[in-house]
Amino acid sequence: MSAEQATALVLRTYDFSESSLVVTLFTREFGKIRALAKGAKRPKNPFDFALDLLALCRIVFLHKSTEALHLLTEAKLLRRFRVERSGLEGWYAALYASDLVNAMTHDEDAQPMLFDLLEDSLNRFQTRTRLKDHLLRFEWRLLSLTGHGPSLDACVSCGEEIKNIAATTQNSDDTQRKTSRSEVFFALTEGGVLCPRCRAGKRAVVSVHAEALATLRLLGEDSDKEVHIPPSIYGELRGLLNQYLCHLLGQRPRMHDYLGYLAG
Ligand SMILES: [Zn+2]
Repeated sequence: MSAEQATALVLRTYDFSESSLVVTLFTREFGKIRALAKGAKRPKNPFDFALDLLALCRIVFLHKSTEALHLLTEAKLLRRFRVERSGLEGWYAALYASDLVNAMTHDEDAQPMLFDLLEDSLNRFQTRTRLKDHLLRFEWRLLSLTGHGPSLDACVSCGEEIKNIAATTQNSDDTQRKTSRSEVFFALTEGGVLCPRCRAGKRAVVSVHAEALATLRLLGEDSDKEVHIPPSIYGELRGLLNQYLCHLLGQRPRMHDYLGYLAG
């Protein structure tokens, strides 16, 4: 049993006993861990109110290799995200995002880039502007970082390049505009676009405008450039990601029903 230090975001807390909590923490160094915080509910405790939902803290824990629960010995609050500045929508977005991280990661599988993405997104959720765009960006990048990023360039079945999507990433003159409104098949089970030949006989296939898929590709690019998602495309992308995530998880994410309340 060794003492480890880590930077962590609090994903969930449960009552364990009258005085103790079990916390699910997403750490930058070790990935997701679950730990017992003895005495956390007592007025005087070693955790100094750092174990609130979505708090960023520095922790020390005793790493137990044989049991599922580690033992949390210290937690120091580094930062609280003021997502309530964006009203209830800020909370919904933040809880939905942290819930997805919980659902899409395995215990003790370190993913520092995903940690940074969640921290950055919580930061963005503090301002009400373009909350929906920030959340879609988060979801799209989470999919790619967890190995579930759908193929947008080539048919997932035969590998043939899907040309319509490539055309829309350039500036749209009239011809390209027409092309970009064309529809592309997207396979939820295989996770990616399908050519018309491979579409036959496949289940769980939805059709999506090429323009919407091109926007997804922009969201995935590793740049700080803001991507503005037009309202007409947002609805389509929201629907696609909802279906794809439900398919991957085998159920709807816990906070899924609240997404409809998000302001632009
Ligand atoms: Zn194909």
